[in-house]
Amino acid sequence: MKAVVCGAGIAGLAAAHRLAHHGHDVTVLEKAHAPRPQGFMIDFFGPGHDAARAMGLLPALDRAGYRFRDAAFVDEAGRVRATAPFSAFAQAMDGLISILRPDLEHVLRTALPDGVELRYGARATGAESGSDGAAAILEDGERVEGDLLVGADGIHSPVRRALLGGDEGRLRHLGFHAAAYTFEDPEVHARVKDRFFLTDTTGAQMGLYGLRDGRVATFIVFRSDDRTLPEDPRAAVRRACSGLGWLVPRALEACPEPDEVFYDLVAQSEVPSWSSGRAVLVGDSAYAVSLLAGQGASLAVGGAYRLGEELARARSVEEGLRAYERGWRPVAEERRRAALRTAKWFLPRSRARLRARRVMLGLLGLPGTSTFLARMLTGKPAAAAPKGGGRTGVPASAPSSGDGR
Ligand SMILES: Cc1cc2nc3c(=O)[nH]c(=O)nc-3n(C[C@H](O)[C@H](O)[C@H](O)COP(=O)(O)OP(=O)(O)OC[C@H]3O[C@@H](n4cnc5c(N)ncnc54)[C@H](O)[C@@H]3O)c2cc1C
Repeated sequence: MKAVVCGAGIAGLAAAHRLAHHGHDVTVLEKAHAPRPQGFMIDFFGPGHDAARAMGLLPALDRAGYRFRDAAFVDEAGRVRATAPFSAFAQAMDGLISILRPDLEHVLRTALPDGVELRYGARATGAESGSDGAAAILEDGERVEGDLLVGADGIHSPVRRALLGGDEGRLRHLGFHAAAYTFEDPEVHARVKDRFFLTDTTGAQMGLYGLRDGRVATFIVFRSDDRTLPEDPRAAVRRACSGLGWLVPRALEACPEPDEVFYDLVAQSEVPSWSSGRAVLVGDSAYAVSLLAGQGASLAVGGAYRLGEELARARSVEEGLRAYERGWRPVAEERRRAALRTAKWFLPRSRARLRARRVMLGLLGLPGTSTFLARMLTGKPAAAAPKGGGRTGVPASAPSSGDGR
């Protein structure tokens, strides 16, 4: 079978890996002209972690990942008001790796089996799908045809728009904006390395952490009902975070040019059906759960893995696509609901709720409560595991394909 994957992000690379592993010819189309160096830190656990183990990728992910002692919540004056130990969370979730998005993509990309064609600078502007094939249409009019089209083109998915309609109406805005960038400041780096710092503030929050290469990475989330993207993301970030105190003014001062700043509205995708004929969605295009869930990347890898396995065991492509959605939708739905439940704790609106969160974070360090709280915050284990599958619908331990090749 010839598969065309649209998007060389986390879901697209994982899907290409699984489809090629099962013997299919795979072409990946990516609009960026080269792998993107920008990104934010991802806590990678749950179904994607299980899938990465099954794919033989855990050793490489471990090497590329960061080990933070804890997450420290700092008030405007620089006092640590609460901490959440990573080890307790990692134990409760059966494994956790903190990894930069470009590093996660690098691990997936370098593990691709020989023969996968990766085409950068190939932007899909349309898609077609029927009973015996599908195609991505590129901006210069070229048709890239296959027996299967996988739309792994992120939350604003053009493939979804072309095949399933609904446009941005498929997105549920959660009332937050998010941004991320990196900057150089050796003094700030020395103060934030080894720990994951977050401001303990209401309405807006900045996270700061040190990277291996000496840069400081930051991510910002703030409450806003505005559903349009600002013309100048740097100005929007400076406005939202101006009162956060501590090291934040320095980080804002160092904010780079707008095109080096990641900026988006925080939203979930709600897509009634994930496939149409021979085309299917995977990752954020189908089931973005938002950064509030902290599991979008994990679901992207886990879903891609599940798609590959279901297609491999099905008698027809259509049967495989149906089995994938039947099995994976409940897993993604659970995480989506968990994100909505925890939104009020993620970024408290009031000082009272901020104080309550400090108490809850304190409990995370206690044996027993850590497991309960972590699972409550991240969604209960799904009951949708296939025969032989683990608690998240992908094998908790499976025969590995060596180093992933
Ligand atoms: C600040 C922040 C923090 C986060 N933290 C976490 C976390 O801790 N843990 C976690 O699991 N998740 C986290 N997430 C969520 C996670 O990043 C996403 O869920 C994940 O990246 C989704 O992967 P994807 O491959 O589906 O989409 P993307 O990563 O968006 O990749 C889509 C790819 O498709 C390409 N593309 C788009 N349009 C086209 C086109 N027309 N033609 C060709 N290619 C196209 C894009 O360039 C991109 O490479 C976080 C997200 C944010 C914003």
